[in-house]
Amino acid sequence: MIEGLFGGTFNPLHRGHLDVIAHVRESFCLTRVHLIPSAIPPHKSSTDLAPATDRLDMVKRSIAGIEGLVASDVELNRKGPSYTVDTINHFRKNRPPGTDLRLIVGSDAFFEIDTWKRSREIFRLISIIVMIRPGQEKRSQSVACFLRDVISEDYKQTKGQERFTHPVLKPVYVCKVPEIHISSTLIRQRVKEHLPLASLVPSPVEDIIKKKGLYL
Ligand code: ATP
Repeated sequence: MIEGLFGGTFNPLHRGHLDVIAHVRESFCLTRVHLIPSAIPPHKSSTDLAPATDRLDMVKRSIAGIEGLVASDVELNRKGPSYTVDTINHFRKNRPPGTDLRLIVGSDAFFEIDTWKRSREIFRLISIIVMIRPGQEKRSQSVACFLRDVISEDYKQTKGQERFTHPVLKPVYVCKVPEIHISSTLIRQRVKEHLPLASLVPSPVEDIIKKKGLYL
């Protein structure tokens, strides 16, 4: 059983998130993907940050009925900043033995991973899927350089440019995802300007934003 961990601020969740998760899930035959809203994202400023409970609610209600997607409140139940290494350890302890866990990250986040808490340990604990967007193809090559220069020179590229293996650390995979021009920043801006959200977010997200008066 292969399961993905997809963390994000989800401030708010949007169609881009759901579409890329669906793509990664299919490409890697993931049985399940855990969507994990962060309570206090260590790498983002908190201006305009909706309450964690609302962000979780948006995720839960939007994925209700979508097979293979589950919302996790693990980071909301932990005190302090949401460190990925702690979340990985939580899932390693709590998923059935033999579950192959993969951390799903955007390439922007991946290239900063060496600044994350106990980053070296992350590579020891979990395989990583790096999402590369169209127009960022050169980044597949940069993943190779980054892994060798910053993480460990023993990472070797296999299967074209798609997989990097290491004698001790876990593999790193590259996944090309479709371009979807949606971001949470765009959604927040549109709310502020009273523009319609139309198909940019699942309808439960729009409902919660309206009901709670978020991002105004
Ligand atoms: P913000 O605009 O506030 O920075 P965001 O839209 O990037 O937010 P996050 O919750 O920070 O949303 O993203 C979680 C993950 O989803 C990140 O790895 C990010 O790269 C990825 N992601 C978000 N939007 C897209 C998109 N349109 N296409 C591909 N990946 C995306």
